[in-house]
Amino acid sequence: MSKAAYWAWLDGAKVQGIALHDLVEQYGSPLYVYDGNEIRARLLAYQQAALQAKIHYAVKANSNLSLLAKMAQWGAGFDIVSLGELRRVQMAGGKAADIVFSGVGKTQEELRYALAAEIGCFNVESEAELWQLADVAKQMEKRAKIALRVNPNVDAKTHPYISTGMKDNKFGIAIENAERLYQAAAQCSDLEIIGLGCHIGSQITQLSPFREAVESIKSLAERLRAQGIAISHIDMGGGLGIQMQTGQEVPAPQDLLALYSEVLANSDYALHLQPGRSLVGNQGILLSRVLSVKQQSEKQFVIIDAAMNDYMRPALYQAQPPVRNLDRMEGEQESDIVGPVCETGDTLRKAVSIAAQAGDLIAIAGVGAYGMSMASRYNSRLQAAEVWIEDGTADLIRRRDSYEQLWENEIGTSFIE
Ligand SMILES: *Cc1c(COP(=O)(O)O)cnc(C)c1O
Repeated sequence: MSKAAYWAWLDGAKVQGIALHDLVEQYGSPLYVYDGNEIRARLLAYQQAALQAKIHYAVKANSNLSLLAKMAQWGAGFDIVSLGELRRVQMAGGKAADIVFSGVGKTQEELRYALAAEIGCFNVESEAELWQLADVAKQMEKRAKIALRVNPNVDAKTHPYISTGMKDNKFGIAIENAERLYQAAAQCSDLEIIGLGCHIGSQITQLSPFREAVESIKSLAERLRAQGIAISHIDMGGGLGIQMQTGQEVPAPQDLLALYSEVLANSDYALHLQPGRSLVGNQGILLSRVLSVKQQSEKQFVIIDAAMNDYMRPALYQAQPPVRNLDRMEGEQESDIVGPVCETGDTLRKAVSIAAQAGDLIAIAGVGAYGMSMASRYNSRLQAAEVWIEDGTADLIRRRDSYEQLWENEIGTSFIE
């Protein structure tokens, strides 16, 4: 049995003594399963480092209400990118003061709602947004707490679609414009500058881009302070990657914090972080039944009942998630694991050695982040159910969709005779 991080919490076909086959019997497939104790342990790895960092969990990684409720109970704050995420955090019992609002395009409605809720910080991504926020704050007779999200022009060395910190990305404020904008914001009584932020990308598996970024952000913070601008926290965003293949070396949260601690030594900035993937990614699996096995010229296709609508990352980012057959030992035959959706892009895993027969239960690992939160109903497929396992108990935390839900927002037209 491999000791890879993404399988480490599975004991054969069991998690904490609970048989995965029984869960699929009860709740059907495809089925997302999370290990709550493992997620807690990942959060603690961030929270218990010598350098105290304030953790704002990036809600977009996995926004299930029960997961958010646990995160709030465990002392995490939240990084949100939409009003929908803000409403989820409120539903889950998260404190407004512990919410950071990121995102490159915030609507007037979102700014107004978040200001009324008195969230902890707006991470502003452009000059236009800065003045829109100031306007809304003025109308509401409130002061908006802000940090500018600066783009330190660092190559995160990850997939281009999840690299966000280079100068030609849509994200953040170019570092050379930051001082001028901070000066302008400091003149505006509707804004209260509290920090400086960045987020350079996702699934970053080396420490060097983080080092480059924090050095650049720290020196900017110092220049700003020298100009009388009160920067009390530095927000380094998220982005720490997770192991996706056997033997792949990926820094742990402790390693990242040790690096930040080294660079920020002898300074008094509070450190804020927004991890998503590294808290939940390898703590979730997707279970799926084999529908059939098909030989097509030289290729073998294992067709399963999960598809790109359930797990979009292979189609979107060429992700290659680890896959295992829970009913059979690994086979010789190289296969593509594909779903039923009518798209060639509906390949969940390319070229994997696996033996499979119809009815087998397949586990796809490393899907706790950007799995269910990116799911859609494409091909009018029902979105999957989700199960949370903690302290030896399994709880259904999301029911599978019903067919009525597929069209519930579409009725009321007079077109149907
Ligand atoms: C997506 C995102 C994160 C989380 O990134 P991970 O790679 O999941 O840790 C944090 N901050 C911002 C602004 C983001 O957009």
